Amino acid sequence: MKSLLTLIVLFHSLLAFNYSLEPKNITNAAECFFGLPEVMDEHNNGNMSNSCFVAMGTSYLVIDSGPTYQYAREAYSKIKNQKNLPVSYVINTHTHDDHWLGNGYYKEQGAKLIGSIAFKSLQKVDKTRMQRRISKEAYKGTMQVFPTVFVDGEKILYLNGKKVYIESVNHKAHTNSDLYIYIPSKRVVFVGDLVFNERLPSMRDGDISGWIEALEAIQSMDVDYIVGGHGKLVSKNAVDFTYDYLKEMKKQIIDYQEAGEGIGSVVNKVKMLKYKKVPFYNSVHRQNVESAYRTLEWEDE
Ligand SMILES: [Zn+2]
Repeated sequence: MKSLLTLIVLFHSLLAFNYSLEPKNITNAAECFFGLPEVMDEHNNGNMSNSCFVAMGTSYLVIDSGPTYQYAREAYSKIKNQKNLPVSYVINTHTHDDHWLGNGYYKEQGAKLIGSIAFKSLQKVDKTRMQRRISKEAYKGTMQVFPTVFVDGEKILYLNGKKVYIESVNHKAHTNSDLYIYIPSKRVVFVGDLVFNERLPSMRDGDISGWIEALEAIQSMDVDYIVGGHGKLVSKNAVDFTYDYLKEMKKQIIDYQEAGEGIGSVVNKVKMLKYKKVPFYNSVHRQNVESAYRTLEWEDE
């Protein structure tokens, strides 16, 4: 009987995907799993965004649940090995599916799920983008589980007597649904995809001016750590890479628009070649210019 059980367990573990996740410690603030600077595929199986655990005395606060059920289960089991606390809340920084498809796992653990008001109108889709691109084996168990508590403006949680501020950016920035989480006692702010490092950001659902404005607000915060949705840099200047890229792009596009250049020529001219070696340049830069051109053209009118 015992050997049959062992066989069943072994069989199941063969069906599961092992992400080989290892948490990185951010001194006195959090434990984070940093995703790879890659596009989701059947090799990384969605391990391309960040997921963090903040020990708030008697429970963990989780910032973004990752790309799949199995990812979330593996991440939490690694964290529990260090300190075995329950998860009280999971906060989803925005609606892109690499950041919340692990929600189902945490819901099973009894955690409350919090997201921006944009989740309220999010519809379940036939197949998520993640599901289409990663292996069946890794996606197994994943369901579209949305937050049930919404933040529109500011929400304050008290965890073990310490305040956690959840602030929604009430204008379009990376998406129309960005949240950031500020924990004064840990001197950290988690900003989701408002901040990218080690890869170019994607602007397909964003607004370049609103994004720059949100980053300026973050830059002025009195914290030691700024943790983005992609990339391992978490120092105070973690904002600079995204900020400089957006500022430079905005300036160049406006100059061309003032010279009367149309979108067709501007997407070819705003090459920003110093970013050419940065991952995702070939797949997102041109689209970013195109999207920024359109929003800036709007602003002008
Ligand atoms: Zn993302």
